[in-house]
Amino acid sequence: MTEEQVFDLVLAGGTVYDPVSGTHQIADVAVTGDRISQIVNRTDSTGPSPASRAREVVDCTGAYVLPGLVEGHTHIFADVSKVGAPPEEAHLRRGVVAAADAGTVGASTFAAFHRYLVTPSPMRLVNFLNVSVLGLIDFRFGELLNPATLVPEDALAVARAHPETVRGFKIRLSEDVVGHAWRPLLKASLELAADAGLPLMMHIGETEEPLPVVLEMLRPGDIVSHAYTGKPHGILRDGTVLDEVRAAQQRGVLFDCAHGRSNLSFEVARPAIAQGFLPDFISSDTSARNWRGPVFDLVTSMAKLRALGMTMDEIVSRVTIAPARVLGLDAEGYGTLVPGGPAHVTVLRDTEETVLPDAAGNQIVAPRLEPVFVLNGGQRVELTGWRGQPA
Ligand SMILES: [Zn+2]
Repeated sequence: MTEEQVFDLVLAGGTVYDPVSGTHQIADVAVTGDRISQIVNRTDSTGPSPASRAREVVDCTGAYVLPGLVEGHTHIFADVSKVGAPPEEAHLRRGVVAAADAGTVGASTFAAFHRYLVTPSPMRLVNFLNVSVLGLIDFRFGELLNPATLVPEDALAVARAHPETVRGFKIRLSEDVVGHAWRPLLKASLELAADAGLPLMMHIGETEEPLPVVLEMLRPGDIVSHAYTGKPHGILRDGTVLDEVRAAQQRGVLFDCAHGRSNLSFEVARPAIAQGFLPDFISSDTSARNWRGPVFDLVTSMAKLRALGMTMDEIVSRVTIAPARVLGLDAEGYGTLVPGGPAHVTVLRDTEETVLPDAAGNQIVAPRLEPVFVLNGGQRVELTGWRGQPA
């Protein structure tokens, strides 16, 4: 570090979060090219602010300065799947720099997904490959109603050919998707995941049997999506988090928020949070069916969970380092904000109070979180506005 060093950009005076330690500080973040150069605490520091040596200064006073957000569960195969939303519009321009598609794509559609979405995207896109070769093309017809569409050798071949993209497998375990034959299908999916050395993401809400029966079969590292679903066979009994759910989390089974069109209930989330049961990571499950409501985007899911009692420190780690670790993207510098690391940064501000819906017809009134400045590998992202109606 020389006295003369000039930074391209300094994000000055914001509340800068470190999701690894779960702490935050008022600091200046200096960026040069595609890297973070310095993070200087403004309270302890006696020297001049790096802002005095910057080509451009962005005043972040009163704003939250976070590592670029990581979306652990979404649906982004537009034009092929009825649930796919365009990733740049739905995610990057709303503060998300890396995202995992959760089962929209199956082995038979993966080549197109890789060629037309993953390769050209300015975002880092990965996926949980649907165990059905069909993927989730059309929500009206469960992709596993014909169990012959689960072809382990096809899924395994795709996973082995594309380890940089396929980070796990996905099975939607609802009765309308798998019918009554859920047990052999889940077993075959777990065997496939074990063969590939990858986690299985499993979607709950309207499973045929109570959740503990299903949890018993999962391995540490496997993921239960829709942790706060209001549908039958969720995490609560008489308003209390099930012991079996806590035990599963304790032994390393991961719980994913995955709001989605029908799977976040404030009436489940509020008592669960009060009882200290938090998801291991927070995803929005944004899709073409919910990005204009009730989900909108990941930052709105964050605002809802904050209104229900989670702290910003708890939330930030669960939309950055936690999903980055699940997806193996921490090794590429996603999920943290550190000197020398890549300049993926999302700056958020609180908005006015807004009516925010869940997926079960309930509402709360709370400030939203709005992205105001985003860097993706040092590149400034052109943002787009909230897709809901302000109160
Ligand atoms: Zn989903």
